[in-house]
Amino acid sequence: MGWIVVKRLENCPGCREPTDRELMQVIISNHHTIQVGNTPVMMFSQEIVGRCTICDLRFIAGRLPPEDLIVYYKDGDYTSRPGRPLDLEARAKKSGLFTRSVLQTLKSSDISPVRHLDFGCVQGNLMLAVDWMTVGVEIEPNYLKWAIEHNLEVYDGLDKVPGFFDLITLIEVLEHLDQPLDSLIALNAKLTIGGHIMISVPDLLKGHPSPLSNRHLSAFTPTALENIMKKAGFEKELIYHVDLGMPTLFYVGVKK
Ligand SMILES: [Zn+2]
Repeated sequence: MGWIVVKRLENCPGCREPTDRELMQVIISNHHTIQVGNTPVMMFSQEIVGRCTICDLRFIAGRLPPEDLIVYYKDGDYTSRPGRPLDLEARAKKSGLFTRSVLQTLKSSDISPVRHLDFGCVQGNLMLAVDWMTVGVEIEPNYLKWAIEHNLEVYDGLDKVPGFFDLITLIEVLEHLDQPLDSLIALNAKLTIGGHIMISVPDLLKGHPSPLSNRHLSAFTPTALENIMKKAGFEKELIYHVDLGMPTLFYVGVKK
């Protein structure tokens, strides 16, 4: 087992308030084991997982530097057991439940986009299921390669994506981002006025069994999700709980 000392975030990644003792309730304060490739790595920090008392976000406060996150996520299927090979064909089949749920929600909300961006598109399963113009962003190289081989327009960074969109989706993505508020603000700038954003995250309030496992960096209650979306400039249209094998929270917002 390797070990690294991580640095504690100085500000909450959901609301930017300082993470001093008054504002952050420490949930776990010993250590946290992660998997980098096939190597278990123990991260040491004084305060590892906290809850922001201002915005209600739970997050891993002891962090790898952002440039090392690609290492943290590099082996692709971080939801599978270490050492198990990445099976992209199987993943494509398994993702149907989420894709159907997303499409159903868009239909019942009367959202039919002209230009859609799927941020954190993984291998592009949602993109392959829609018949409108769609662009993806994915940093993980295995997924990116698979998506490009399936003729999808996918970029490895938001800064490389041209143009604006009237629908942006983040399906099980927000909980993996180093700075979710900063990312949402950057995405807001890529959305047209009146454009929609749709989010799904594991629902902590309904008892998601492992809020900060699966390499999640943040965990959301409905309050935490509403707070961060409002702070990023979105107006809520819909928030609801759904069970997709895992307790899941869906949010639809609009840029006014
Ligand atoms: Zn906060």
